[in-house]
Amino acid sequence: MAGIAYAGTTSTLAEKDSSSSKFESTQLKAEKRLLKWQLQREARALLPNERVVFCMRRVKGATVDVFYSPDHQSAHYGGLMVCGSVWVCPVCAIKISEKRRVELEKAITRCIARGGVVYNLYYSPQAF
Ligand SMILES: [Zn+2]
Repeated sequence: MAGIAYAGTTSTLAEKDSSSSKFESTQLKAEKRLLKWQLQREARALLPNERVVFCMRRVKGATVDVFYSPDHQSAHYGGLMVCGSVWVCPVCAIKISEKRRVELEKAITRCIARGGVVYNLYYSPQAF
């Protein structure tokens, strides 16, 4: 099966992004954060030989730092090892996919600004 999606304007992407984040409640964000860590705990239990076992569990250097952002009203750790697995670890997958989303959005914006057209093609193998 194949499909095509067309990104006509960059404002559509920006509007979707800002409207979804504005209305997300603090409670919902907290529940999503908790779910992410619960899923990682399950992944560690199910996959003891994968890198996810030590993700955010081992110290890289001599100290572990806690960073707080007043603007986002959130905190995160620094100095801990991460597994970087987009397929196994929900904690890393969120970070990596968000970084890729931002990169892709910039590329689409740049392409459209130069008069280009962006298509999203996807293919899946035929079932036998
Ligand atoms: Zn990870």
